[in-house]
Amino acid sequence: MNKEEIKSRLIEGNNRYVEDKEDLKSDIVLRQKLTAGQQPFAIVLSCADSRVVPEMIFDCNIGDLFVVRVAGNIANSSSIASIEYAVANIGCKLIVVLGHESCGAVTATIKGGDNGKNLNHLCSFISPSIELAEDAHVNSVVKANAKYNANLLEKNSEIISGFVSSGKLKIQPAYYSLTKGNVDFL
Ligand SMILES: [Zn+2]
Repeated sequence: MNKEEIKSRLIEGNNRYVEDKEDLKSDIVLRQKLTAGQQPFAIVLSCADSRVVPEMIFDCNIGDLFVVRVAGNIANSSSIASIEYAVANIGCKLIVVLGHESCGAVTATIKGGDNGKNLNHLCSFISPSIELAEDAHVNSVVKANAKYNANLLEKNSEIISGFVSSGKLKIQPAYYSLTKGNVDFL
């Protein structure tokens, strides 16, 4: 699949999910086939929120998506390292950075204050998005944050930026609606 075909596959899967017509089926035959190796067709950098499950949202099976989840879908060194592996060793051609409606990590960042060493560090990857957002609404900051962290993936990884500049990889920020179940590519 080329980059556009991968995007279409994700959109079609999300349409099935929205319409409650999922195709997902994992069985022993598939599990055994996948013991030989993985060939996921896309990477998703998603929030850890229990309501945002990329495999379900895109109606994908085991082995289909290389999913990295961390609160606020941030591009820190661990998420970048995981993604670098999928880009350089598996050859994934599309990274979706998936923000979502009413994200708790984004809400905490907007609220500010001292949240302790670890959450403060996480919020530091989100806070520039407050200024970049169209307005102060949490979901506007979520969208800005998906774009900002999509840029960080490239900025902070020579491997990722190298694949993007040679046309082998595309990074796509996106927004998931908890209410409707649909994903908008931003
Ligand atoms: Zn979240």
